[in-house]
Amino acid sequence: MTVDLHMHTTASDGALTPSELVALCHQHRLQTIAITDHDTLSGYEPARLAAQAYSITVLTGIELSAEDDRHGDVHMLGYLIDPHNPDLRAKLDHFQSGREHRAKRMVERLNELGIALQWEHVLEVAQDAVITRPHIATALYRQGYASNPAEAFERYISDGKPAYVERVKITPVEAIELIHRAGGVAVMAHPGLVREVEPLMSFLADHGLDGIEVYHPNNGKHIREAAFHFAKQHGLIVTGGSDFHTTSGHHANTPGSHLAPSDAPEKLVARQKQIHTA
Ligand SMILES: [Zn+2]
Ligand SMILES: [Zn+2]
Repeated sequence: MTVDLHMHTTASDGALTPSELVALCHQHRLQTIAITDHDTLSGYEPARLAAQAYSITVLTGIELSAEDDRHGDVHMLGYLIDPHNPDLRAKLDHFQSGREHRAKRMVERLNELGIALQWEHVLEVAQDAVITRPHIATALYRQGYASNPAEAFERYISDGKPAYVERVKITPVEAIELIHRAGGVAVMAHPGLVREVEPLMSFLADHGLDGIEVYHPNNGKHIREAAFHFAKQHGLIVTGGSDFHTTSGHHANTPGSHLAPSDAPEKLVARQKQIHTA
């Protein structure tokens, strides 16, 4: 069985709609997938409906952005969550209004710097997606304030730059607890992108972590092997995925470029039963 448990759609920062993504997954012969958009579940239902035509199984998924001072950004994947869980929905709404509030404050700061960017310019870029800094960067570029979005991002709104505003934060442990309360299973995303990840894996394993995303484009050989052995030693589930966002440009990728072990879905289900019937 071919399994890719990490992909993004237009519900967050991906380029394809859920149904376009599912069609592409079919071309790449994937059989089980999870849509793991940032802080939103809204891609799940359209993906599940589109997948019926191809007999592809879609697991519910989400990628939560957690962080702490020592390790910086730590992304936590949640699988098999109940998409209607009121606690999770309330928290996601809070993140979303926090993001919108944050984005508006960044536009205000840009205005204070003499840049005539309007909120409408950002909305035109983001359309229906959750608003993120790349949307603001693209809006700045389109309004002529940089020669490309990356330059706009770096110059104005990357961490510590003049229009940067901090976001609503949750810690990795809070992310695990939130996923568990919504009936799901928590997996640490791309350990290769996390600072001082080995002590963090030990700490999180003691705080309810269920699995580690061992196979991912940003996991080098060393971290892949270390994470694999750690998972085996501690009884954690080994997962993987492409982190697919788009087929073109600098971040071009294909669904299925990195796969989870074929038994990962059944292990996630077994783990869910274990933690949620205890
Ligand atoms: Zn991530
Ligand atoms: Zn991702």
